[in-house]
Amino acid sequence: MDKGLSLRDVTIFKQGKALLSVTHDIGSGEVLTVMGPSGVGKSTLLAFITGTLPTDFRAEGEVWLDGHNITNAAPHQRRVGILFQDDLLFPHLSVGANLAFGLKPGGSSAARQAKINEALQEVDLDGFADRDPATLSGGQKTRVALMRMLLSEPCGLLLDEPFSRLDAALRAQVRDMVFARAKARSLPVLMVTHDSDDAQAAGGEVITLGD
Ligand code: ADP
Ligand code: MG
Repeated sequence: MDKGLSLRDVTIFKQGKALLSVTHDIGSGEVLTVMGPSGVGKSTLLAFITGTLPTDFRAEGEVWLDGHNITNAAPHQRRVGILFQDDLLFPHLSVGANLAFGLKPGGSSAARQAKINEALQEVDLDGFADRDPATLSGGQKTRVALMRMLLSEPCGLLLDEPFSRLDAALRAQVRDMVFARAKARSLPVLMVTHDSDDAQAAGGEVITLGD
């Protein structure tokens, strides 16, 4: 598969014992959901894909992204974006300065500002550049974190239960926005969750770990 994210015979071991195994191709614009209870190893699988596997773990198998074997690449060279449950905006920076962190270096300050404003518009947050992140709702923070990640131009997107802290009313709205923005960029998306509503909303294939 040329475009997309492939997990080839990926097995994660903890202290010599296999936690989970996954083999799957996720095409451009497709979503794969990996479901399983807390502690089954979902976040660890994503850590392996981002190149940040903690030392207690060992992994076998390969990760390919857009035709490149990234299994042993440095984390910052992988072009994999990730969104977490706790979206961790920098609290001492404005929303706009947070978004600037996603941008690659270079370009005029006007061009950078234009990209930040476009990003805010894309998630219905026009005019939020000067806001303090502390004044945003949970859903707004998630949308800023999404755009900060997308401004770094990833080739694949990982979602680690990013909607689980949002209340029901916002949850569906923010979730739809994340999937729509990923689809608009034709990104392959791997979501891990223990929530069957999230899995259903993703609309793609679902695999379940830990049965
Ligand atoms: P999930 O995301 O499915 O809840 P995790 O991948 O976080 O599961 O954890 C899998 C297992 O590894 C659990 O038993 C957890 O306690 C353990 N674990 C998680 N992170 C670490 C770590 N950094 N070092 C050692 N063990 C960990
Ligand atoms: Mg987890």
